[in-house]
Amino acid sequence: MSTTATAPETIQAFTAEDFSAPDKFVQFCANGGKPLNGVIGGEAVPGSMNALIDIINPGTMEVLATVSEMGYDEVNLAVESGYRAFNGGWKNTSVEERAALIMKLVELYERDKEVFLACEILNGGKVSELARGDLGAVRPCAEYFIEVAKKIRFGDSEIMDVSRRVDAYTYVEPWGVVAGIIPWNYPVVLTAWFMMPSLMAGNCVLVKPSEETPLSALYFAKLAEEAGFPAGVINVLPGRGELTGKFISEHPGIRYISFTGSPGVGQIILQAADKHGTRVKREMGGNGSAIVCADADPELVARMIGRNVNQHYGQTCCTIHRVFAEREIFDDFLGASEAFFSDLKIGNQAENGTQIGPVINSRQPLRILEGIEFAKANGAEAILEGGRATVDGYDGYYMKPTLLRSQTWSDCNPKEVFHTFVNIQPVDSVDQAIQCANNTRYGLGSSVWTKDLELGQRIAKQFRDGTGQINCHNMGAYGIPYSGQGISGGPGGGASCEETLRDYLQTKAIFVSDYPE
Ligand code: NAD
Repeated sequence: MSTTATAPETIQAFTAEDFSAPDKFVQFCANGGKPLNGVIGGEAVPGSMNALIDIINPGTMEVLATVSEMGYDEVNLAVESGYRAFNGGWKNTSVEERAALIMKLVELYERDKEVFLACEILNGGKVSELARGDLGAVRPCAEYFIEVAKKIRFGDSEIMDVSRRVDAYTYVEPWGVVAGIIPWNYPVVLTAWFMMPSLMAGNCVLVKPSEETPLSALYFAKLAEEAGFPAGVINVLPGRGELTGKFISEHPGIRYISFTGSPGVGQIILQAADKHGTRVKREMGGNGSAIVCADADPELVARMIGRNVNQHYGQTCCTIHRVFAEREIFDDFLGASEAFFSDLKIGNQAENGTQIGPVINSRQPLRILEGIEFAKANGAEAILEGGRATVDGYDGYYMKPTLLRSQTWSDCNPKEVFHTFVNIQPVDSVDQAIQCANNTRYGLGSSVWTKDLELGQRIAKQFRDGTGQINCHNMGAYGIPYSGQGISGGPGGGASCEETLRDYLQTKAIFVSDYPE
């Protein structure tokens, strides 16, 4: 790989093209003037708590849809429906039968891609360049997990001769009913990352989308019915985390929970689920770092890092928030970063040219402002101050990018801020940079930027992160685990790899002894 082949000015932040809601999306959201219900056992089910959630466009504050929140009774009903479907035949379907249904769902998804795009752009606040890229990840996800499922030996293993009279073997089967608790920042991709492996393993699923972005999961449920999935195999339970999410994590009938979200919530879910022995896998937030080596072209690398920092305006789990640049190139790198971040176009996410759209909700600006204040109080100098932004003609949650500079070892941004928010520090050596990068409780993804690929790999292997990257960031590929260390992830094999599907299976040991004579 060469980092010098691309002219720096061609490396841009993710950028919007004009987008307006397709009729199908508008009709789906309007739902004949009624709130959108949960989908349980193939039926549209209103919430018994009579609580409604307005689903908004964070760039305009327009209410796109109203969704009925699922309560304790609906979670119970969904678990019962899931087991009815599981025991009523789903558990006996072959890998080929499941694969055919999933590929039918993918076809319908591709037919209605504009609806999913509207979910990501208008509700999720993304720019079209990123949203279109995200949506391209669904078909490969399905195809990958179908191939993984084909390789797995379900049922009985080879028999092992344990002793003269005793044989043993293992028995592999799905858990039964499993739940996926999904965040708002990549709703389509993360719903696919949960559903494809868990369904291919033979489970029935409960999808709990974020209360901010439930539309795409509800639309997936609608398409699942059209694809011919038996009722109860895919259930979608919209609602708040502290209610619907809590009822799910405390439900003894759910055998496995896949959680993607913040470390704090992940810790609560792990404790709640553990009371019933429910297995949990957690993919959580990060506070990613990048090391810029002295041999790197500061302007080129500043733009490449800038593009990654600003991916979904920093609302990406492995986003870079901490950069450690060797002193020889520090000033040039800082200057080029300042130029990149100052040039970013703040605007409505559905308007041509926008590079920083709105953050997701009213809590995010407060969290970002708190992060800026904390950093400044702990030694950071604001090169670009950040703070609230206004966009002509739009009422939305707009924020400016924040670029900070601080002294080596200053731990002024210890928490994931989740915005275009980056702190750059000088370092005396790559070894010092590695120590600084690892000085965090998070461990999702970090990168090193250098022309020397051997040096890069030596450094990448020393990150205390699930993912180490050389001259790239925010990377993922089917077949390679996407997982965190520290408070960023685990237990579980991570997402997007063979282990992911195995997490949705249980392996039992069976011993057979001759009957004593
Ligand atoms: P969050 O933790 O607030 O919420 C995630 C999900 O958990 C939502 O569906 C929410 O409703 C639910 N939830 C909240 N409280 C709950 C509770 N007490 N019990 C059960 N469920 C509950 O996270 P978020 O703000 O939606 O998403 C952003 C976070 O997700 C960031 O930290 C980001 O880094 C992380 N993330 C991680 C990955 C990854 O793969 N590692 C991917 C995307 C996002």
